[in-house]
Amino acid sequence: MLYLSTRGHSEQKRFCDILLAGLAPDGGLYLPVTYPQIDDAKLSELRNVYAQQGYAALAYEILSLYIDDIPAADLKALCAKTYTKDVFGTDAIVPVRTLDGDLRIEALSNGPTLAFKDMAMQLLGNLFEYELARRGEELNILGATSGDTGSAAEYAMRGKKGVRVFMTSPHGRMSPFQQAQMFSLQDENIHNIAIEGVFDDCQDIVKAVSNDHAFKAQYKIGTVNSINWARLLAQVVYYFAGYLQATQSNDQKVSFTVPSGNFGNICAGHVARQMGLPIDKLVVATNENDVLDEFFRTGVYQVRGAANTYETSSPSMDISKASNFERFVFDLVGRDGARLKSLFVDGVGKAGQFGLSGDPLFKDAAGKYGFESGKSTHADRLATIKDTFERFGDMIDTHTADGVKVAREHLQAGTPMIVLETALPIKFAATIEEALGREPDRPAKFNGIEALPKRVVVMSSDAQKVKDYIAEHCK
Ligand SMILES: *Cc1c(COP(=O)(O)O)cnc(C)c1O
Repeated sequence: MLYLSTRGHSEQKRFCDILLAGLAPDGGLYLPVTYPQIDDAKLSELRNVYAQQGYAALAYEILSLYIDDIPAADLKALCAKTYTKDVFGTDAIVPVRTLDGDLRIEALSNGPTLAFKDMAMQLLGNLFEYELARRGEELNILGATSGDTGSAAEYAMRGKKGVRVFMTSPHGRMSPFQQAQMFSLQDENIHNIAIEGVFDDCQDIVKAVSNDHAFKAQYKIGTVNSINWARLLAQVVYYFAGYLQATQSNDQKVSFTVPSGNFGNICAGHVARQMGLPIDKLVVATNENDVLDEFFRTGVYQVRGAANTYETSSPSMDISKASNFERFVFDLVGRDGARLKSLFVDGVGKAGQFGLSGDPLFKDAAGKYGFESGKSTHADRLATIKDTFERFGDMIDTHTADGVKVAREHLQAGTPMIVLETALPIKFAATIEEALGREPDRPAKFNGIEALPKRVVVMSSDAQKVKDYIAEHCK
């Protein structure tokens, strides 16, 4: 399998080369040259594999369709090492439960950091360690986080050979639980850097360091952001697992509703659907930051800056420029790299927007690709959390609540609608208390983490200081 750039660059690459790379040389994102097709016989085979051998074996089957530069036995072992009950809490790994009628919830948030990002990041950690060892190379991951991504990356890379993590976060601005999750890690290869500033300052520092090409090359600086193809690929697996749990035979269809921000999670659903998994609708759920809902309703994609991005009670979806959206638009425009490039470079890059309303292709988003969308606000979130708890005794987090709210508006009788649960309520305790008047349940292994010793350095918002710190700790 070869991978191409959405913006038409002529060079095609293999999986392990894009695993460690970020964007393509022309600023595009990598996608496979074709989506491997799952026919009825293959789907039945996958049904058996999942039922008899479990999630790790299913993951291997899907991944091996896209990865041909890691020996089969090694890839199998990497999947088996990643998707264990020990790490994800259950044998099913991603159990599907019924809420009411056709409405289901697929639990993706029982990994080490209680958010769905663990599903992909845990695999990435093992893939990085494997590939770096094979090449005799090292990697220093530099990132900025306001919560979920940073902790998922740290828990995936902790103790991994050949990898160090330098994670910046805004000092004093994460919830006590999130701070405890990240800062309690005592692994030598994990470095927490609390910046005296806001999240944007952290991002600016990461950009400044990455733009110093000499420093970047000398210290092997890399990232683990959501445009990484391996992360997206790992996410494709749980669409299969959700489908297989919700159906008995291959002639049944299901729909998914996905709480969305950077469009990474739902883009994996798009890939699964393109492979032939019988998905009817893919419903994008946004919060008050609704640029994606606006696109699927109107055909206009208008990004917003930090000043026009609201801080909401589903903070991991506070995104007004969805980094993975380009992948879907590439398919929508018939994989025309030149057209795609003009939409994203001249459109989004220069004008902050593009519009496809008048283009016949726009109808394909709903028709050919099954996309629908909806939006949920703080009031909707509170009402949904309360209703779900009172009627079904099921406590859901704020992001999942956005999904459930929107899913109810898109239900079609007879078709299971699976909402992806992207985090557990304990991570967003304040809003749960506002909705329910009580504290959320806390998984036993997190009792008392706020009191653990913390490993973090506080620094002023200065890229040079971060560079000095990295240099000092790469000796
Ligand atoms: C990251 C995240 C999202 C958004 O996922 P995307 O892949 O960016 O669309 C939703 N909910 C939670 C809890 C997250 O951490």
